[in-house]
This record gives sequence, structure tokens and C-alpha cells, in this order.
Amino acid sequence: MLIDIVNSYDKEKKEFLLGIWEDVILHLAKQIDPKKIFTFLQKAGIISIDEKEQKVYVWLANEFAMSQVKKFLGKQIKETIKEIYNSQFDTEFVIYTPFSNDNELTADLKKLLQLKENKKEHTIEPKIKNKLYEFFGILFDPIYNFENFVVWANNNFAFSAAKAVSENPWTAYNPLFLYGNVGLGKTHLMQAIGNKIMQDDPEKNVIYLPTSKLIDEIVESLKKNKLNTLLSKFNSIDVLLLDDVQFLSGKDKTQEIFHNIFNDFHMNKKQVIISGDRPPKELINIEPRLKSRFGLGLVADIKAPDYETRVAILQSKLEQKWEEIDYNFLEKIAKYVVWNVRELEWALNILITRKKLMWNSLSEQDVTIALETLWYGQQETIDMSNISEWNKKSEKNFSNIVEMVAQYYNVSVADLKSDSRKQEITVARQMLMYLAKTHFGWTLERIGDYFGGKNHTSVIYATNNIEKKSKFDKDLAHDYNVFVEWIEG
Ligand code: ADP
Ligand code: MG
Repeated sequence: MLIDIVNSYDKEKKEFLLGIWEDVILHLAKQIDPKKIFTFLQKAGIISIDEKEQKVYVWLANEFAMSQVKKFLGKQIKETIKEIYNSQFDTEFVIYTPFSNDNELTADLKKLLQLKENKKEHTIEPKIKNKLYEFFGILFDPIYNFENFVVWANNNFAFSAAKAVSENPWTAYNPLFLYGNVGLGKTHLMQAIGNKIMQDDPEKNVIYLPTSKLIDEIVESLKKNKLNTLLSKFNSIDVLLLDDVQFLSGKDKTQEIFHNIFNDFHMNKKQVIISGDRPPKELINIEPRLKSRFGLGLVADIKAPDYETRVAILQSKLEQKWEEIDYNFLEKIAKYVVWNVRELEWALNILITRKKLMWNSLSEQDVTIALETLWYGQQETIDMSNISEWNKKSEKNFSNIVEMVAQYYNVSVADLKSDSRKQEITVARQMLMYLAKTHFGWTLERIGDYFGGKNHTSVIYATNNIEKKSKFDKDLAHDYNVFVEWIEG
């Protein structure tokens, strides 16, 4: 569509749009470091102006560029366009890929901003960066930043450490290892660090990698006999963010290669930030030497927020979305959704949608429906009389524990519900049955059903077995204590 529009422009129109864009750039250069403008706006311009809708459309080359420009220069561009073109006009950003680099809607920034050709970083750095992004993909999202991260007692330390690293990468702590259960803000904090470092120094090559992606890249490069190419890519990264490192579990070859990559980063004083679901020394099926490397810098944990904080998080999310919802409804969500922030957000979003569908009026019933939708897809009704008990016993929370225990023993949830008698599967299954009985108050029948229709004798056998064994088996007792801590938060 957009390409069609540009094709239909005559020379005069193109010059007109380019002229305005150049004015915008020059105006921006009065307030912002030209280097920053160059980095972000090399491939950008005004693609059209809609006089009727009073809109100026600014094009950017891809989604990443769009998210970065919106975050770091969005406000200034909008204000500048108002000032230069027309104060009534709003600016909208759109993605458009020009056919060639010397597209007629692209300003020659080097000339315009009088950047010196001989300054290597201006000509070379963006190319390396682009190559890295092309290779690894761009996985930053500017919605994750420090400003909208709510701080509470049990994430304060992680937050401060993340901030320190973002302000003084390479000198504060290396590596920074963040750990905690799902949905508690690990990815949010890591991305906030990356976004801040890039904002302060757009020339730094900052790469965010989910561990699954790292594994894929390594496996792929081994298959194609191109490990060296991959390693050379890592050489040009300045800051590496590796998310959910527990997934390296059992991947021996990948661990070995990552160990070397990690050592290179460490020796060259390049920042590494890692997240995991537990502290380094408790990671399962990961080489001891790698675990000890992960613990070399600073290890910080995140635990779930308390009730007051959960209400505050909901309020903050509402503000960000420019929505309003009665305070007592928020309190109710915060009472029920205790495990993680992601679920708080889900519950809130369901409520916001319902509010819109209900012509802006919400009732208690809507809150109940939102919670039921979140947990059961409306199959089970909530006993309003005993909130905390209900919470502990709810199936959803048990499923959370099942997932975590499965990861802990490196087995799949499907295995647990199967008839497999492999040692590690049996231990995990028996442990969960015991926890279901002692900590969730489930009946033998319900436990049997949950684990793929086991009869009640095998449930009794399983729970007795764990109870007996944990009295003398230290490892088992340790595992049990870890799980109880998860359950009790
Ligand atoms: P994790 O990586 O630990 O599983 P995420 O970082 O993906 O968790 O967080 C899940 C969701 O909750 C995200 O939308 C994130 O923005 C939000 N979130 C988590 N912690 C906070 C916080 N402290 N303040 C604001 N939002 C948060
Ligand atoms: Mg995450």
C-alpha cells in the first residue's frame, strides 16, 4: 500500500516531503546529540501528510526501529513536527521499507548533520549492529522499562542491582544473575537494562537472547559446521542478556560452548545479565563450573508481591492504559491473584474488556467472571467465604507448582500424568501427590484424577513413600523444603 503511494508521487511532492523532514532533523539536532539522531533516523522520513485527518506519517524501516524511535525520540519528533509544520497535526509512525538506500524520501543525515566521515564509529558501528540484529533478531520491547517497574520489598534488591548495571555496565556487577518464579518481572528487568544501555549509548551492541534461541543457534551452527561464524558474532556483542537459563539443563554440548562464550565476555569485561528460575547453585543438570561462573557477580532474587503491592501494581497498570476501574474491584483481584504479576495483568485486562462491553459499568459479578475466566474458563465457582484457603487449594496454583516441580526434575508435565515408571518421573510424581495431599488438602480421588487417573491405592503408596523416605533421604528432604517454600511464597 505505502509503496504504491510513494510510486504515485511526482518529483515535486517528494522534494516537498523531504524538505519538511530535513527541517525536522535540523530542528531536532538543536536539542539532541546528532550521533543519536544518526543512529535512530538513518532510515526514516515523512511518507505522507493527510491534510483532512491532520496527520503526518513518518516512516521507519522495521518494527525494531519503530519501537526504538517511539521510545527514545518519539515525543521530540511529534513536538518538532507540530512546531515546524502545523501545531494541529499529529504524527503517526508507520513501517515502510524503501527499495534502496538512496531513496528519495531519505535525508542524507551525514551531510545534513555535518558528521565527519572519518569518525569510524558512525560508519562502521551501525553496520555491525544491523548484522547482529539480522542474525539474532531484535527482541527488545520498549514497554519494559524502569519507570513502569513497580518496586516492592521482595524485588527491591533485584531492581537496584539492575539499575546499577544499566548505569555502569562492565563495572557494577558481572554477571548479574536474576532469579525467581514465572511472571515476577525477570524479563521486564532484563529488557529495562538493555533499553537503558542503548538509550545512553546507541552505539553499544546489546543483544537479548532467550536461552531456547541460544540453544537453537548453537545446534544449527554445529550442524552446518559454522560454529566459528557464530562465535565471531558473539565477539562483537558488548552486552549479552540471556533469559531463562534453566533451559540449558541437560544440554551438555551447548553448555560447553556457552561456557567459552561466557569466559570471553568475562575476560574482556563485557557485561552479561542472566535470568533463571532458581539460584545458580540450585540449577539442575548444569555443569558445576558453569553454575559457579553464574554466581561470580551478583545474584538477586525476586519474590511475589504482598497484597498492598498487588493493588498498587494494578493501579499502575491502569494508569498506563489510561483506564479507570473502581478501587474495590482492584482490591478483589489483588486478594485472589497472589502468584504473579502476569496473572494480575490478565485479570485486569479481562475486566477492562468487560467494562467496555458493558457500557462502562462493572459489578462484583464481573470480577468473579474475570477470575473464573482466568483460572478455569468458567468451570468452577469460587467460594467467596474463604479466600486464602481457596487460593491455596485452587487447581491453578497447584498446576503452577506442578510445572515448577517438573522443571526442577527435568521431566515434562505430560510424563507426570503418564504411567511411566522412570525413576525421576516417579519421584516427581510422588512428591507432587504428597504436596497435593499435605498442602492443598486434596482428596485421594482428586489427586488420582489429576495424575492421569491413578487409583487411590497408588496415591496412598506414593504419599506414604515420600513421607517415610524424606526422614532419612537428605536430598529428598531438601527438595521437599524447596517446594514448600514455593507454595508458601
Ligand atoms: P518473568 O520473566 O519473571 O516470567 P515478566 O518479566 O515476563 O516475568 O513479567 C510478566 C508481566 O508482569 C510483564 O507484563 C511485566 O511487565 C509485568 N511485571 C512483572 N513485574 C513487574 C513489576 N515489578 N512492575 C510492573 N510490571 C511488572
Ligand atoms: Mg521471562
